[in-house]
Amino acid sequence: MQTVSDYFGCLVFDDRVMKAKLPSAVYNSLRKTIDEGERLNSDLANAVADAMKDWAVSHGATHFTHWFQPLTGITAEKHDSFITPSPDGGVIMEFSGKELIKGEPDASSFPSGGLRATFEARGYTAWDPTSYAFIKDKTLCIPTAFCSYCGEALDKKTPLLRSMQALNKQAMRILRLFGNTDVKCVHTSVGPEQEYFLVDKALYEKRKDLMFCGRTLFGAKPPKGQELDDHYFGVIKPRVAAYMADLNEELWKLGILAKTEHNEVAPAQHELAPIYTTTNIAADHNQLTMEMMQKVAARHGLVCLLHEKPFAGVNGSGKHNNWSITTDTGVNLLTPGETPYENAQFLLFLCAVIQAVDDYQDLLRLSVATAGNDHRLGANEAPPAVVSMFLGDELTSVLDAIESEKPYSAAEKTVLRLGAHVLPKLTRDTTDRNRTSPFAFTGNKFEFRMLGSSNSISCANIMINASVAESLCQYADILEKAEHFEAALHDLIRETVHKHKRIIFNGNGYDEKWIKEATEVRGLLNLRTTPDALPRILDKKNVDMLTSHKIYSEAEIRARYETSLENYCKTVNIEALTMVDMARKEIVPAIESYTKAIAEACNAKTVAVPGLSCKYEKAEITKLSALVDEIYSATAKLEEAVIELRSAENVTEESVMIRDVVLQRMAELRVVCDEAETLTAESYWPFPTYCDLLFGVH
Ligand code: ADP
Ligand code: MG
Repeated sequence: MQTVSDYFGCLVFDDRVMKAKLPSAVYNSLRKTIDEGERLNSDLANAVADAMKDWAVSHGATHFTHWFQPLTGITAEKHDSFITPSPDGGVIMEFSGKELIKGEPDASSFPSGGLRATFEARGYTAWDPTSYAFIKDKTLCIPTAFCSYCGEALDKKTPLLRSMQALNKQAMRILRLFGNTDVKCVHTSVGPEQEYFLVDKALYEKRKDLMFCGRTLFGAKPPKGQELDDHYFGVIKPRVAAYMADLNEELWKLGILAKTEHNEVAPAQHELAPIYTTTNIAADHNQLTMEMMQKVAARHGLVCLLHEKPFAGVNGSGKHNNWSITTDTGVNLLTPGETPYENAQFLLFLCAVIQAVDDYQDLLRLSVATAGNDHRLGANEAPPAVVSMFLGDELTSVLDAIESEKPYSAAEKTVLRLGAHVLPKLTRDTTDRNRTSPFAFTGNKFEFRMLGSSNSISCANIMINASVAESLCQYADILEKAEHFEAALHDLIRETVHKHKRIIFNGNGYDEKWIKEATEVRGLLNLRTTPDALPRILDKKNVDMLTSHKIYSEAEIRARYETSLENYCKTVNIEALTMVDMARKEIVPAIESYTKAIAEACNAKTVAVPGLSCKYEKAEITKLSALVDEIYSATAKLEEAVIELRSAENVTEESVMIRDVVLQRMAELRVVCDEAETLTAESYWPFPTYCDLLFGVH
C-alpha cells in the first residue's frame, strides 16, 4: 500500500523534481530566481519549461495553463494543449520558456474597476517562480500574477507579493539596528484554518437560494440547533469521514499540508487547517483547498458550502489567519525570547503590530468586507466588526509596566532600561485562549479571525503586511538617527504602548458593553457593513501609506474599491431576486395548496357531520391567508426596492441603498415566509427544511 510520504506532492513540480530533472546549472539558476528574485534568462527558461513539460506529460498532463487570481476572488485558468503539428501528420508535445514566463489571456471579462479605460482587452500573466507549478485535471498549472496592458495589478497575488517585499525591507532595517548581520531576508507565514458546511447534494439542488447564492434565504429554525454543543469536536460521521479522507489525499498530492480536521460548532459544520507556510504559497494553497473541497464533495454526493452564513441561527464560517514573521535563518520574530536583547527586539516587533492594528483598523476591517461576511461579523459567533487586539494578561502587564516605568513584578528587581529585562518566557500555553478577539496573540503568532470562509486570504495579508511595514518604517527612521540606540528604543516602545494601548482588549468581544466602550470611550471604529467599511480605503492616510510602500498605485486602490463594492451590490441583487422568485413561485403556491387542502377537509367534514365547528381548520385558514397576503406585499416591496436600485448614480450610492433598504426588505419577507413554514404541513413545503439540511448527512 502507498503511504502518504510516497505520494505527498506527487503532482507538484517541487524542489525534489527540479533537482532530479534539471541540469545542475539550470537548477542553481532557478533556485536563485526562487530565493533571491533573480531574472531567468531565456535559455534557462526554455530548459525549465522543457523539463516541466516532460514531467507533466509523464504524469498524464495534456495541457498547460497560467493559473491566476483575478479580483473575482476565485482562480482563473485557460488551458492550452502542448501539441504542435509535426510534418509527418502527427504531433509533438512542446512548451517554451516564453510560454512559461508570460501569457496573454483575453482579460476583458475580468473585473478591473476603474482600470478598464486604460486597459484594453489585453492582460498579461507573469510566472511566479516562488510558488511551485502543479498538475490539476491533466493540466500543468503555472501560478502567475495578472496585470493590465499598462502594468497595473489586476489580481490578488501581485499586491500580496509587494506587501511581503515591503515588510521584508522594513524588518531588515530593524534587524540591522539590533546588530543582526546574518539574516538575508524575512518572510511572513500564514496558516489559514478553513471552516465549511457539508450538505446533501440532492437536497441542495432543490433549493434555488443555495444554488444561486450559496446560502439559505428562507428557513424556519429547527427545534434543535447547536444548543447542546454536541457537534463541536464530536465523532465524525462515516460519510463525512470518507469525504475528509478523500480530500486529504487530493490535497497531499498537491503538496498542501492538510493537518487538522474536526467538526465545528454548528451541525454540518467542519474545519480543515493546514500547517503554516510562506504567505503567498499559503494563499495559493488556500484557493486550491477551497476548490478541492467543492470538487471532492461532488464525488460523495455532497456540496461544500463556503459561504460565511449559509444558515441563520447557527454559527457562520470564518477563516482564522495565523500570521507570523520569520527570518531566512529560521527565527520567528514574534517569539518572546529569553534574553533581554531578544526581548527588546520582540517588544519592538510586537509594538509594530499593535500600532499597525490601531492605525489601520479600517484597512483590516475592509480587507474582509463582503456581503457574506456582513452576516457574520458582529453576530454571536464571530469577532465583532470592531477591530481590537488580545495580548493576554501577562504580556499586557509587561506593556503596562513599561508604559508606567515601573518594574514588571516585585520579584524582578533588574534595572529597567530597555524595559524588557523582565519579560517572562512566554510559552504558547501561558497566553490564555480568547475566542472572541478579532486579532489575538497566540504565543508566537497573531490570529486574525475576521476573515470570511470564502475570502481570499490575500486581501487581509496585504493589509497586515503593509501596515506592519509602515510601523517598522517609522521606527527605523527614528532609530537610525538616534544617538543612543537603547535610550531611543526604550522611549519608542513606551510611547507606542501609551499611544496605541486603546486597541488592546482582553475581555469578551461579543459583549454589548464592549462595543459601547470601544466606540464611545476608546474611539475605535465600528464599521458594521461593507458599504461602511470599503470607502475608507480611499482615505488619504490609507492611500498615502499603501502607495508609499508601493503596495498599490492610486488607480489600483480605486479599482479595488469599485470592484469590491460592485461585487457587494451584485451579490445582494441576486439574493433579492432569488427571494422574490422563491416566494412567488414556490412558497405562495405551496401555502395556497395547503390552505386549499384544509378547506376541502373542512368541507368534507361538515358534509359527513353537519354542524361541526371546524375550529382548527378555520383558524389555520385565517392565519395562512393573512400570511400569504403579507408575503404578497413584502415580495412586491422587495421587488420595488430592487428596481429602485437602477436609479443609483454610482456603485457607492447603490451600496448604501442596498444596506438601508433592500436588506431590510429581504429580512421582512423572510420573517413572514419562515412563519408560514412553521404552519404548513411538511409534505407541502416546496423545498428541504433546515432539519433536512443540517442533519441530513450521516
Ligand atoms: P488553534 O487551536 O487556534 O486551532 P492550531 O495550533 O491548530 O491552533 O494552529 C492553527 C494554525 O496556526 C495552523 O494552521 C498552524 O499551522 C498555524 N501556525 C502555527 N504556528 C504558526 C506560526 N508560527 N506562524 C503562522 N502560523 C502558525
Ligand atoms: Mg484557531
